[in-house]
Amino acid sequence: MFAVGHMSIAYLLGKVSSKALHTKINIPVLLVLSILPDIDILFDLVAGTSIHRGPTHSIIVAFLVFIPVFIYLGKRAIPYFLALISHSLLADFFIGGDLQLLWPLSGNVFGFHELGGYYVSILSSINMVTEMLLFVAAIMVLYKSGDWKVFFKADKTSLVLIIPIVTVLLPSTIGYPFSESLLLREPTLAIAHLVYLALFTVATLKTLYWIYTQRFSSAATQQRSVQRQNYK
Ligand SMILES: [Zn+2]
Repeated sequence: MFAVGHMSIAYLLGKVSSKALHTKINIPVLLVLSILPDIDILFDLVAGTSIHRGPTHSIIVAFLVFIPVFIYLGKRAIPYFLALISHSLLADFFIGGDLQLLWPLSGNVFGFHELGGYYVSILSSINMVTEMLLFVAAIMVLYKSGDWKVFFKADKTSLVLIIPIVTVLLPSTIGYPFSESLLLREPTLAIAHLVYLALFTVATLKTLYWIYTQRFSSAATQQRSVQRQNYK
């Protein structure tokens, strides 16, 4: 699945689970966790390996990584854990499969197709329609709940959104990991990518500007107090 689908699933799951658990969620962190397993694409590109859909897509690895988070956050960790495992279990499982879900206990690959089901390619129309439906649902909930405001205010945790901007949204719109730009191949899905890209860019720039002005104003205050001391 593309980043748009992964993030939309994670957001919708996060909304449902946090409501059921009566906990709050940090939306930028939730969205980033949903695309984190695909960091192996970058690893393959840099190191020349072939580990995509391997260890980073394992639910055992996800659980082990999350043990300290569960200890620290308790039930508040559940929406984040769901965001991470939804990548493999809800999305990639049905789209493409070929996942080493139980690594390192087993090197076997799993997926809907491996279980005898229909093979759904990431570029198939079934996936395109699914991703667009998920995107529309996520945008509607974002709008109705007022969660969209998160992207228009400065918050240091929003800086995590730099990860999807650089690793998924921008490259997949331009073309990587496919041979052709998504804008040419699947313009509708590319527009969905651009919507997330715009929201994340606004959140990141607003936060960076806020950090800059904070530093600048505190430096100016310090300078003024030094000048005042010198006059005394
Ligand atoms: Zn993946």
